[in-house]
Amino acid sequence: MFDKILIANRGEIALRVIRAAREMGIGTVAVHSTADADAMHVRMADESVCIGPPPSSASYLSMPAIISACEITGAQAIHPGYGFLSENAAFVQAVEDHQITFIGPRAEHIRIMGDKITAKDTMKTLDVPCVPGSDGGVPTLEEARKVAGEIGYPVIIKATAGGGGRGMKLAKSVQEIDTAFQTARAEGKAAFGNDEVYIEKYLGAPRHIEIQVFGDGKGGAVHLGERDCSLQRRHQKVFEEAPGPAITAETRAEIGAVCADAVAKIGYAGAGTIEFLYENGEFYFIEMNTRLQVEHPVTEAIFGVDLVREQIRVAAGEPLSFAQEDLAVNGHAIEVRLNAEKLPGFTPSPGRISQYHAPGGLGVRMDSAIYDGYSIPPYYDSLIGKLIVHGRDRPEALARLKRALGELIVDGIDTTVPLFHALLEEDAVLTGDYNIHWLERWLESHLS
Ligand code: ADP
Repeated sequence: MFDKILIANRGEIALRVIRAAREMGIGTVAVHSTADADAMHVRMADESVCIGPPPSSASYLSMPAIISACEITGAQAIHPGYGFLSENAAFVQAVEDHQITFIGPRAEHIRIMGDKITAKDTMKTLDVPCVPGSDGGVPTLEEARKVAGEIGYPVIIKATAGGGGRGMKLAKSVQEIDTAFQTARAEGKAAFGNDEVYIEKYLGAPRHIEIQVFGDGKGGAVHLGERDCSLQRRHQKVFEEAPGPAITAETRAEIGAVCADAVAKIGYAGAGTIEFLYENGEFYFIEMNTRLQVEHPVTEAIFGVDLVREQIRVAAGEPLSFAQEDLAVNGHAIEVRLNAEKLPGFTPSPGRISQYHAPGGLGVRMDSAIYDGYSIPPYYDSLIGKLIVHGRDRPEALARLKRALGELIVDGIDTTVPLFHALLEEDAVLTGDYNIHWLERWLESHLS
């Protein structure tokens, strides 16, 4: 096992990793930009290294700075968290070239899954069901028109390098295909330096169901059921739960086995998430994330496992501490993502937090890096915390969420907390009867 690891991230996820490492008796090194000198992850780690100025391109994304920080402190492994360099195959390669262990999958698997066309092709060969669509990339407008006509409208044009909801355009009819094609390409080029796009059938009312998988890197793998992340704004998740309200134990076991087999076959190492759209009882693969997800705590809550601890164990060459038959669903968990944003426009609201009080009590977990008097810098994403609740069943989890949100105080900045108070009054949320389009429509009629 490692003596010391470096966490190449900030915010709540950096704390999350520090906590797991500390419980394992592993020393921790935080890295930070000059804007984050007072950040909680710096305070909580055993050691810290300043790696550059505020823009993430010059700090949290700077591979030489992070690798140097490892060498200076003698950290033997790097945990990338999510975002930043977590799915950057070149980074993994550079880390390994310096005899440092990357806590995550091999570069090869990150590369395959980072390109959505290659990912889909790979999943097809592994018998994972996919969304009907083009066979690979669609290079020209003529071809896009032809393929879309064959698939049937509406279709969605996606940048193969896309992520975070960017590089995706809907074309409802042939009149919209030209613009959708050009914009998806332009967005892919501008945001990811790659203008290759592909086409998929646009599903009208699916749920977003994702399966948590874990590979031991030696051909063994397990699944930890699903998360339903259908409540989304601009293709970004805001509310996640496990188990999924529409998924039965039988369905979970079936799709879970398909996913675990797929990652076992490729010798995948560590945590991964296989994302699907789920409509009329059918699963359609959309992408795989080769890292820990923001919403991993709901899975931890219902299975009673520490996913970060497992990531570190697998990276150190140790076996998983559980087998498939040890994993049983216990109760229901919900996570809400709290952002420093002002409603109704969701405009970023950085600034000084004058007062912070975290909720607590039975079944409540608050993962956040904010504190009284903390100033949220304007340079990074607006997530200020995740509130996770766990109950014996869904109604208990919902009641607990409402109670916990009522205890939470974040003064001095605007947050998205009022959105969740309002959502907890909605029948669709209370009964779990929603799909990926529900929240956008609700926002249009309630917040505009
Ligand atoms: P990203 O990598 O940007 O997160 P994904 O491919 O994972 O992109 O898709 C994100 C979200 O976009 C999905 O959860 C879903 O809401 C929507 N989406 C993606 N593909 C389709 C599709 N074929 N039909 C309808 N909605 C889709």
